[in-house]
Amino acid sequence: MADIRLEGLRKAFGATPVIHGLDLSVADGALCVVVGPSGCGKSTLLRLIAGLETPDAGRILIGGRDVTRSAPGDRNIAMVFQNYALFPHLTVARNIAFGMEVRGAPRAEIDRRVREAAAILQLDRLLDRKPRQLSGGQRQRVAMGRAIVRDPAAFLFDEPLSNLDAQLRGEMRAEIKRLHLALGATAVHVTHDQVEAMTMGDMLVVMNRGRIEQVGPPMALYERPATTFVARFIGAPP
Ligand code: ADP
Ligand code: MG
Repeated sequence: MADIRLEGLRKAFGATPVIHGLDLSVADGALCVVVGPSGCGKSTLLRLIAGLETPDAGRILIGGRDVTRSAPGDRNIAMVFQNYALFPHLTVARNIAFGMEVRGAPRAEIDRRVREAAAILQLDRLLDRKPRQLSGGQRQRVAMGRAIVRDPAAFLFDEPLSNLDAQLRGEMRAEIKRLHLALGATAVHVTHDQVEAMTMGDMLVVMNRGRIEQVGPPMALYERPATTFVARFIGAPP
């Protein structure tokens, strides 16, 4: 496992700055929730950490190692997206195993890791099913299974619950928290949902227009918002 440190991170698309010199430390094993309105740069931030975008300036350290210029595959990070596309023709087990199979991992290791992930996610009985035979929440768990089997140093979640209905969202919130406790892994969970922001993490980051407005425990931000934006966004009473 590993802490994540961002130092002076900047990113522009063409002439439009999207991330403005951002500093952030996420402690080893912490669940950090990043909340902010649509378009404020949350996905770009995760993509920078994952190595899917290259910063214009600044550094990214994972477990103390500077990975700013490392390829995504060398960062030991797993990202779970909003639109988790599962392979419709493959079983749950093979969807989870896919990345390991591509890498040519030994069969016995693949089977063991898939069983472990399935146990953590309570997918044991669904391993032979196809995605179309699953509920939305079960599919989301399969998507997480794909991340877990890689045994990454850190997890990045990009609004993984936003396509689920309200009840499932509640169940999955609890699921991610449980998963986080079970794995003890450093995680950054991005959302635009105020309830997720207040209830899921040990640490809340409020983002606005590519900048961090405030960082701290959720209740501290709720009770002592540093800016009007934070007060409005996480719904503290006036
Ligand atoms: P969020 O995830 O908070 O909704 P994003 O990080 O997706 O925000 O986007 C932040 C801003 O950057 C938006 O204005 C978006 O249009 C722009 N943007 C994101 N990705 C690209 C890209 N590949 N090319 C150009 N503009 C982009
Ligand atoms: Mg986004």
